[in-house]
Amino acid sequence: MSMTVPEMYGSLVFNDKVMRDKLPKDVYKALRKTINTNTHLELDVANAVAIAMKEWAVDHGATHFTHWFQPMTGFTAEKHDSFISPVDGGQIIMEFSGKELVKGEPDASSFPSGGLRATFEARGYTAWDPTSPAFIKDGTLYIPTAFCSYSGEALDKKTPLLRSMEALNREATKVLHVLGNTDVSSVTTTVGPEQEYFLVEKEAFKKRRDLVFTGRTLLGAMPPKGQEMEDHYFGTLKTRVAAYMHELDEELWKLGIPAKTKHNEVAPSQHELAPVFDTTNVAVDHNQLTMDVMRKVAEKHGFVCLLHEKPFDGINGSGKHNNWSMTTDTGVNLLDPGKTPAENVQFLVFLMAVITAVDKYADLMRLSVASAGNDHRLGANEAPPAIISIFLGDELTAVLDSIENDTFFGKQANVQMEIGASVLPHFAKDTTDRNRTSPFAFTGNKFEFRSLGSSLSVSGPNVVLNTAVAEALSEFYEVLKDVAPEKMDETVHELLKNAIKEHKRVIFNGNGYTDEWVAEAEKRGLYNYKSTPDVLPVFIEDKNVALFTKHHIFTESEIKSRYEILLENYAKTIHVEAKTMLDMVNHQFMPALTKTMDDILTVASKKKDFDLTLSVKTEKALLVKLSAAYDAIYDAVEKLEKDTKHAEEMEDELALAKFYQETILADMNEVRGYADEAEGLIPKENLPYPDYADMLFYV
Ligand code: ADP
Ligand code: MG
Repeated sequence: MSMTVPEMYGSLVFNDKVMRDKLPKDVYKALRKTINTNTHLELDVANAVAIAMKEWAVDHGATHFTHWFQPMTGFTAEKHDSFISPVDGGQIIMEFSGKELVKGEPDASSFPSGGLRATFEARGYTAWDPTSPAFIKDGTLYIPTAFCSYSGEALDKKTPLLRSMEALNREATKVLHVLGNTDVSSVTTTVGPEQEYFLVEKEAFKKRRDLVFTGRTLLGAMPPKGQEMEDHYFGTLKTRVAAYMHELDEELWKLGIPAKTKHNEVAPSQHELAPVFDTTNVAVDHNQLTMDVMRKVAEKHGFVCLLHEKPFDGINGSGKHNNWSMTTDTGVNLLDPGKTPAENVQFLVFLMAVITAVDKYADLMRLSVASAGNDHRLGANEAPPAIISIFLGDELTAVLDSIENDTFFGKQANVQMEIGASVLPHFAKDTTDRNRTSPFAFTGNKFEFRSLGSSLSVSGPNVVLNTAVAEALSEFYEVLKDVAPEKMDETVHELLKNAIKEHKRVIFNGNGYTDEWVAEAEKRGLYNYKSTPDVLPVFIEDKNVALFTKHHIFTESEIKSRYEILLENYAKTIHVEAKTMLDMVNHQFMPALTKTMDDILTVASKKKDFDLTLSVKTEKALLVKLSAAYDAIYDAVEKLEKDTKHAEEMEDELALAKFYQETILADMNEVRGYADEAEGLIPKENLPYPDYADMLFYV
């Protein structure tokens, strides 16, 4: 008996429908109010919700519950408790209280805190986030929670996200009210993350220590065929891949994740999945869950799902496009140009707020996507450049030009103008979305932030976006708040004009992959942070600390702790890569080389035994090449070993991160260069692990 898709969809989610069915009316109402207006939940209400939740969960086969949270590791964390509670006579009952629902107290000492939490104060707590629905996975009731230290400092990725949504809600609503749109009582941000991934054979994966330990290949020459034929993008799905995607969709649907599109990507064995967008907080949770389910379902199909940003050198890496917009509780998408002049003006105000925000805080946007993995993509002509700019398209750029030059509103600037005398052009999606080289593109009714790496939590980029736009809106509000109604149109016009003048430098509609753009961006004074260690220090710059503290996203100590975690995480990542490379080269690749030389020597000497006059010219030539490669690799490995030891002794975190980036990565490239060249000289059976062709073309 199989379920229809509508029956299946959300069948494992404690969603609004279930709540309405299972909860007493007054409890439902109180909970709804908490969810919608972010207010405190009374303990008796929490108790009633807990009972209904537990009954529903047990009916669906759950035996445990967990507070599910997102610590600074970038992964999710969970600790499972069963519902059982012993009673007299050796019996148990299934129990779950409001207190257990609302708050948990996991030992926080093993999660990164960047020095926030002294060891004697290792306790942390998790707090239920009722705005993201609970769900059942693998027999456990999952309760989405925020994770804080005992003194209330955020130790996770959800807390700042909720704070940033609150800041944007507050500032956007104020601006809407001052513009006369008083029906609106709240504004939320929406996100639709498109997720790229690779599938490789589980058997092949297990033989590659680099994939197992680091998620990416550290050695490996390009196969005879790469992605140059462009035959994979949107190609027919192979049977096993189609079966995988089918099951993945079903598992996601059960969890209420609206998986919508799936297709093959540019690189061989690379694919993409995109859901329908949702409230940012829910979309972030869902994306974490999607990555998790992707990995689990892959195992069942004999695959491993790779979410690393750059699993294969010479082949496109994987990213994540963060589609973002703002919606009112009256159902209006604020980045939709709309049909009436009033809607047009509202759109222009919010559009300019985003442009202002991105120009002023491009450094933080770059920071929000920085990671060791993503450094292999950004600026490497397969992903957006490291320079953050905005693609608006010709039509909208022309609209801004005409506002700047006083021609858009069709009146002289000194004459009182009517709000939005002209109606904006309607944007056909295909005319707005052509430029794939832009990191931040307007795509008709939303912005698409394209610089995210595939493994990244989408929380960080949205914290920055929400906060920076909230700040721009709060500046706009300061300009508009005391303006008399009859002066409003003119003031809005001036505001837009000034914002365009000041921030248009961040708009760029051309090809972001060219050297001309790099030079032009420098002339315009735009940031160009090439690597993670380059950009991390912007986190603690005064301007950015001021932004985050003003809007109550982070305290100063939270910022410092996060900065430290990011530095440490970067250094650790490259450290593990360096050690893994040394292991593979010393224990697998070099022995394969010596074995090959030995084989050739054996042939040569057997030939001579057989007939002294036989030529060993080819054997000699091969041996010369192999021996040269052997020496070169040995020297490069020596240097990598020495530098890695040196790194282990360094103290200053920033200097260490820079050392890994400038020296260790360069050492690793050197080793890899020689090894990959020599790979062509080694018979396949001498190499103890699968090569690129095995991994990329046999799924
Ligand atoms: P593509 O970019 O592949 O052409 P779409 O533009 O249709 O596809 O959508 C890409 C993603 O953008 C989807 O996840 C979609 O749900 C999301 N999206 C659409 N509208 C919004 C919105 N208002 N806010 C956030 N995300 C959105
Ligand atoms: Mg897209």
